[in-house]
Amino acid sequence: MLILSEADVTACLSMHDAVEAVEAILRAQAAGAVNQPLRVIVRSPAGFLGAMPSAVAGACTGAKLVTFFPGNGVLGIPTHNAIVALFDNDTGVPAAVMDGRYITEIRTAATSAIATRALAAAGPRNVAILGTGVQARSHVEALAAVGPIDALRVWGRTAEHAESMAAWCRAKGHSAKASPSVATATSGATVICTVTPAQSPILDARDVPAGCHVNAVGASAPHMRELSSALVGRATVFVDTVEGGMQESGEIIEAIRDGTLPPKPKLIRLCDVVAGNAPGRTSSSEVTLFKSLGMAIEDLACASLVLARARERGLGTAVAL
Ligand code: NDP
Repeated sequence: MLILSEADVTACLSMHDAVEAVEAILRAQAAGAVNQPLRVIVRSPAGFLGAMPSAVAGACTGAKLVTFFPGNGVLGIPTHNAIVALFDNDTGVPAAVMDGRYITEIRTAATSAIATRALAAAGPRNVAILGTGVQARSHVEALAAVGPIDALRVWGRTAEHAESMAAWCRAKGHSAKASPSVATATSGATVICTVTPAQSPILDARDVPAGCHVNAVGASAPHMRELSSALVGRATVFVDTVEGGMQESGEIIEAIRDGTLPPKPKLIRLCDVVAGNAPGRTSSSEVTLFKSLGMAIEDLACASLVLARARERGLGTAVAL
């Protein structure tokens, strides 16, 4: 079995690779080749551990174990940490254990970029990023991989973090500014990405221009919400899985509870749009919303590519179990 460090994984996986690998696995999902239960969440006093197994016929078998410990920020260590375990697809013999922190960072943003490419009317031209952490930066890299960005606006609850994120974007060659409010950041936006662990809405319908595409990424559990019900009700909603949207998205759960959405709302799987099985955007004024919760198949698709490249390049440490 091969052990791969974050440095090994990073060396084997670019953002372009992640976009291609995730798009291919979304097509497999649309074709019904994916076996993927809802993730199991185990809470601990300082955070939670998620177990995310999946098997994709002819492609990969494995699981990600991921932790979210929000207090890590003050310790100077990432809030999300993970390992991905891959098993041989034919024998079930353990094949690799690798860092999953970087895979989580990159595959999440890659999926939003795929949703943006499929659903944003004008592409990622005028982008508002709400949040200033790991996902905020990764989303800038991912959106730039699928289309030209003319202008970036960054809002964060901590103004100096928004300033330093905007400076980071400028150093990457983007025209970027920190915004003092969500409304200023989103004015004129063609794409908005929400990437915070907010537990009450930071983005309302009134702050979303007609025709905008929203990637709502941060709220990945029922107690979390970045979007108001009015926004969820106004948008055409796209999801990773219908089951996940109904059971894990605080925004969808609350919009059903308060009557904004019907008990069985129309939720369209992103994979079906990518595969051409469902229409995406149907008008230039429509607000499209990709409610991202993250799927194990995204991790396994990236991890499988990393393992193949690591074997080719002789990276990692082989251990006998
Ligand atoms: P980071 O800890 O790196 O960054 C978090 C950002 O959110 C910081 O800018 C922080 O601001 C801000 N923030 C924290 N709390 C609030 C709040 N209550 N209101 C507004 N802003 C807030 O996290 P990541 O970037 O790695 O992850 C961001 C979110 O994305 C998390 O909720 C995470 O669980 C989710 N996520 C979702 C995935 C998916 O597949 N959908 C996958 C991976 C992550 P400050 O700097 O001021 O603290």
